[in-house]
Amino acid sequence: MRRISIFGATGSIGENTIDLVRRQGGPEAFRTVALTGGRNVTRLAELARELDADIAVTAYPECLGALREALAGSRTEAAAGPEALAEAADRPVDWTMSAIVGAAGLVPGLRSLRHGGTLALANKESLVCAGALMMAEAVRHGARILPVDSEHSAIFQALQGEDRARAERVIITASGGPFRDWTAAQLAAATPEQAAAHPNWVMGQRISIDSASLFNKALEMIEAREFFGFAPEQIEVLVHPQSIVHALVGFADGGLMAHLGPADMRHAIGYALSWPDRAALPVERLDLARIGQLEFRAPDEMRFPAVRLAREVMARGGLAGAAFNAAKEAALDAFLAAEIRFPDMAGCVEAVLGQLDAAGNLTSATIDLDKVQAVDHLARLKTAEAARKTGKN
Ligand code: NAD
Ligand code: MG
Repeated sequence: MRRISIFGATGSIGENTIDLVRRQGGPEAFRTVALTGGRNVTRLAELARELDADIAVTAYPECLGALREALAGSRTEAAAGPEALAEAADRPVDWTMSAIVGAAGLVPGLRSLRHGGTLALANKESLVCAGALMMAEAVRHGARILPVDSEHSAIFQALQGEDRARAERVIITASGGPFRDWTAAQLAAATPEQAAAHPNWVMGQRISIDSASLFNKALEMIEAREFFGFAPEQIEVLVHPQSIVHALVGFADGGLMAHLGPADMRHAIGYALSWPDRAALPVERLDLARIGQLEFRAPDEMRFPAVRLAREVMARGGLAGAAFNAAKEAALDAFLAAEIRFPDMAGCVEAVLGQLDAAGNLTSATIDLDKVQAVDHLARLKTAEAARKTGKN
């Protein structure tokens, strides 16, 4: 029986993964080793009971008592805290879903590569923070990383059977989010609720807001660089309001291979779950005649500076990705706490990257986990400071 673990099981990607596991036979077809979640321990325990998991881990030690209670009478062990998450990742499985949100997903993802199975990677932040480390760890232990982000799954699929060296560019599409056509003045007054209302995809709150600011696309540009090894100038972004074409790969002969699909993450998750096979998936079949039109346009980097910042981060290299991701996470926290306005997020991130670069904090010939975590910590502190100053003005 295939052994699986799901990190971030209670989130949007986690629930979609479990939906597929359930449809493909649930506990009869899969042996679930670890399921993890956050504060929603009632849901975590329900899922653990349903899949008969060996262990359920909440990220928060203060939630351990409630998790134990919710699991009473089941055979599932309960644990809590970051170290317990990492230890759960040490338990050997054949397939792991990495779907914790944010840099908190890095250590469990890295540790799960050590047992040499397949890591289905939704947590793009771990590639942005420490792509070289993730890829090297996979090679060292004979593990395989499969992309789950829809754009990267699309690129991966377009490259099947092709010579990677013949791919000269990739185009990642962005819906443009709910603020695609908003003016700068409207953006300045945007609320977290408005930012989280994605027009096409149903996702967790943080990635939804990152989609509205195009920070999600910025992370995905860096993810494409780290995962596939494309040079920064080979990575393009197009706004595509319909979210039907997820990415395109351009080859040396001028041909473009596009991947089209409905805005349903179960396609990319299911592809990673069955790869190299293609299982039948319960996603909508596209009716292109009904959709009628597919539009594409260049992103407006004045209103949405994140795409430009991603290029600067890629050009900078070293620890810039880790600092960028941490600054972005801290700026989002400040926006959610109503300390800063929506457009201030990009301003704070840019200021902090500049400060850290000038102080020499981003330079490093080699990247290891300690350096990544140190710069992550520093970037969060500096961003919180920058946000406080911005908020007062
Ligand atoms: P979500 O907020 O719905 O779920 C996040 C999960 O992580 C939950 O289980 C939560 O309990 C857990 N979690 C939160 N903070 C944690 C912490 N500090 N430590 C440990 N666990 C923690 O998020 P999501 O939308 O499912 O996204 C998960 C990941 O997948 C993100 O990296 C996101 O960028 C990526 N992703 C999501 C989508 C999507 O459609 N939702 C698409 C592409 C990529
Ligand atoms: Mg994506």
